[in-house]
Amino acid sequence: TEACLAAGEAGGKLNAFVHPTPDLALEQAKAADARIASGEAPSMCGIPLGIKDLFCTKGVPSQAASRILTGFRPEYESTVTRQLFESGAVMLGKLNMDEFAMGSSNETSVYGDAINPWRRGNDETALTPGGSSGGSAAAVSADLCLAATGTDTGGSIRQPAAFTGITGLKPTYGRCSRWGIVAFASSLDQAGPMTKDVRDAAIMLQAMAGHDPLDSTSADMPVPDFEAMLTGDIRGKVIGIPDEYRIDGMPDEIAKLWAEGRAMLEDAGAEIRDISLPHTKYALPAYYVIAPAEASSNLARYDGVRFGHRASLAQGDGVTEMYEKTRAEGFGDEVKRRVMVGTYVLSAGFYDAYYNRARKVRTLIKRDFDEAFASGVDAILTPATPSAAFPLGQMEDADPVAMYLNDVFTVTVNLAGLPGVSVPTGLDRSGLPLGLQLIGRPFEEGDLLNVAHTLE
Ligand code: GLN
Repeated sequence: TEACLAAGEAGGKLNAFVHPTPDLALEQAKAADARIASGEAPSMCGIPLGIKDLFCTKGVPSQAASRILTGFRPEYESTVTRQLFESGAVMLGKLNMDEFAMGSSNETSVYGDAINPWRRGNDETALTPGGSSGGSAAAVSADLCLAATGTDTGGSIRQPAAFTGITGLKPTYGRCSRWGIVAFASSLDQAGPMTKDVRDAAIMLQAMAGHDPLDSTSADMPVPDFEAMLTGDIRGKVIGIPDEYRIDGMPDEIAKLWAEGRAMLEDAGAEIRDISLPHTKYALPAYYVIAPAEASSNLARYDGVRFGHRASLAQGDGVTEMYEKTRAEGFGDEVKRRVMVGTYVLSAGFYDAYYNRARKVRTLIKRDFDEAFASGVDAILTPATPSAAFPLGQMEDADPVAMYLNDVFTVTVNLAGLPGVSVPTGLDRSGLPLGLQLIGRPFEEGDLLNVAHTLE
């Protein structure tokens, strides 16, 4: 813990930790020492973690990287962080992210950009660590903590993991409780571990997972010993390669990485099968209807009364002016865009044309996966991202849709509620990390991680 706190100070230029909690960390570390001395050593005992700012942590600022939550210190602890602390983990502080987890570059944060510790050769250009869990990815990659929590609504664990050369697991929807995690799109949000390797992901998931009566969508399923499932034996497993992920304009190095991953799994004794997931091309548009729709509803609670920031009001302003001024000042541009899109697609007259249609598409996407798994496929291999990390600021003036295209390989997994993991598997020609994604059957994270382990 002391070494990580020192590294955190030295690594301040990455802007990964936005609310360091050194006193709490040392207190938790001492308690962990005492547990170890008494012969009790739970799985995460003494492990220093960073926690994404989206998790409510009792008494510690929890702002979802938004101005509107300025000064908010929750009275309660999220279930996932509570479970991590009960298994002995230490919190070093809260980590940077895109505002309300909306983004793919960590550039929508009220705290400013988090910075990727990787560089293109000798080029000094600062690169994005990805988003929305950009602070988590930068901190783990730069050894400022041993692991971090992330959340993934459309790729926010897997894409930043790929951009920073670490492992990121989005568990099955319902595997980890959402209680106490600031809601973005409730039917898609899921917490997961961001770690240095697959074994750490297995250990950390075990501590995070489990049924929680406080989250009605949390699954009442046994949590197996994920680490014990990492046998390294994948002989006879069937790995599907979906043709629809071969998108137009895919860079050669991504195609090459994908082929190398395929060969590695084949060499390890897996059977490779070409498969079709025909509705894949509708996933991104469906996601960018459903996610903003849910966000517009979830973000209605930020009214200047219940949480955080309230705008200063002029003589004669009423409650409407308070809402309007608070929300105008408190939300950034991307969040406002999502609220407007979401409100539009849910409004009478447009609901059937957009929201309902997107929900139908979602069902078709899920069915594609169900059919692949029913035909005997155990896991599906795809690239994690369409490129390596890009320079910060590059997308500033671009159409927002250019940013959304980053999520082309990841959103399908959230729409279908499946587990997906991004594993660092190579470097591009300028020396930047690239990741491959493996998608598994629901609640079979253990088998999925075992296949992912073969790619390390
Ligand atoms: N980039 C996606 C979005 O902005 C995914 C975000 C996430 O997974 N939280 O919606």
